Amino acid sequence: MDVSETVRRRGVMLVLAAPSGAGKSTIARRLLAEDPMIDLSISATTRQIRPSEREGVHYFFMDPEGFMKKRDEGAFLEWAEVHGNYYATPKAAVEQSLAAGRDVLFDIDVQGAEQLKQAMPGDVVGIFVLPPSMEALRARLLARAEDSKAAMEVRLKNATGEISHWRDYEYVVINDDLDDAYDLVRSILRAERAKRERETAIPRHVERLLGN
Ligand code: 5GP
Repeated sequence: MDVSETVRRRGVMLVLAAPSGAGKSTIARRLLAEDPMIDLSISATTRQIRPSEREGVHYFFMDPEGFMKKRDEGAFLEWAEVHGNYYATPKAAVEQSLAAGRDVLFDIDVQGAEQLKQAMPGDVVGIFVLPPSMEALRARLLARAEDSKAAMEVRLKNATGEISHWRDYEYVVINDDLDDAYDLVRSILRAERAKRERETAIPRHVERLLGN
């Protein structure tokens, strides 16, 4: 029986973090395409738009002045400087999804994940995606021909620092095989949903089962 008809569970805030090139975005895209209950949090950024990207789909692209104005108005749940650009999570869309009983996926860095946990304690589940090796990471970054060589080197250099934060996440997934890594992320999400139902929807269900 679907107990969600009677009591909504609280949505899971699923943070996928990883050094650039670990395969996080591919996993995220697949999850969003296959799971109708999860929404993507679309971040704001001051980074240059890439040729394959679209405004409002991949990011909300902003100039630094506009970004700082929004930040000062309290429109962001978290914000951080990553690889020399600013990134932030707009608050309103996340609140809307959670209020509708939906889950939200965040493709954000370690600083953002830490701030989200502080802003919404208990709702955030962090998964850190690790590459199988630094060689694999370099190869994946090279294959992404959209970034300049200099930008790629910055990302590779930052990867070491990012990887050192792996303990801050509830789960770690090594992306050796993309299908396996994806299956593991899906399983984690299913288990976390069940945990939320245990907190919110199941007590009512049990009351009914017992005839109270
Ligand atoms: P990219 O420029 O490759 O799209 O993203 C660079 C890094 O910024 C990635 O690690 C990505 O997860 C992170 N990032 C993207 N959006 C946000 C955000 O809203 N907040 C934070 N803190 N990091 C973000």
